[in-house]
Amino acid sequence: MVLFLIPGPALGLALCLALCLTLGLAACATSPLGRSQLKLFPDAQLAQMGSQSFEQVKREKTISPNGPRNAYVSCVASALIAELPPNWKSGWEVVVFDDPSANAFAVPGRHIGVHSGILAIATTPDQLAAILGHEISHVLASHGNERMSQVVAAQAGLLAASVATDSTTPAGRATLAALGLGAQFGVLLPFSRSHENEADLMGLDLMAQAGFNPEAAVVLWHNMAAASQGQPPEWMSSHPAHASRIRALEERLPRAQALQAQALAAGLRPDCPRPPDPPSGTEPTEAG
Ligand SMILES: [Zn+2]
Repeated sequence: MVLFLIPGPALGLALCLALCLTLGLAACATSPLGRSQLKLFPDAQLAQMGSQSFEQVKREKTISPNGPRNAYVSCVASALIAELPPNWKSGWEVVVFDDPSANAFAVPGRHIGVHSGILAIATTPDQLAAILGHEISHVLASHGNERMSQVVAAQAGLLAASVATDSTTPAGRATLAALGLGAQFGVLLPFSRSHENEADLMGLDLMAQAGFNPEAAVVLWHNMAAASQGQPPEWMSSHPAHASRIRALEERLPRAQALQAQALAAGLRPDCPRPPDPPSGTEPTEAG
């Protein structure tokens, strides 16, 4: 049993400042929305660890064999990725897993996992763009590096960390959890609320820049709230309350709508029709 102290926002900032003084400014960074970040790892190292871990997830979970659905998810993802800054436009991997839980996750190294179950909640291409925009934004903003840095700082007091990614050991599972794979390995180490809010707002801008309708992000969270009925889906359990995230999205909506108008004027009209769902009972199961 391994226990971690996960700093809250105030402690996180204090920690960041203290570590910046100790380590020099190399450890400190600024997120795309201007938040100060503690990043103790080179992004390339996180990317390498994330890529190894994602390979493990692909071995341990069932990758969806549903071609039309995979093509649909890829189409929406590609439309979003095309609007990223130049150095972020390539190297992404988006994998749909046959899993009925409403979940999606982002892993350093440009990997996104989508559970088939989330397509029951994100029912349109625009809503799926809100999900994928959120996950891509976690990667873009190095939230995995920040979370891992918080864990290492809290756990080891900055002694040289030997980082394991073997899911059969507690230390390895904790690392995987920090990388964003907690739910997959039975350890939940959530992104902080500030990470979630930041991913929401960056994702909103991104989907709008790609020509998707940003109002769908608000509809999505209403769908999430309706689906959760007091018991949040797995993906939601660590996320800000529905009402507060809907409010934050609505505040940014006029700006996002202007971005979408620009995109449409420039001829960006994502064309990713959702394929019909397979008849129920025909989906492969874990056992099959
Ligand atoms: Zn998130």
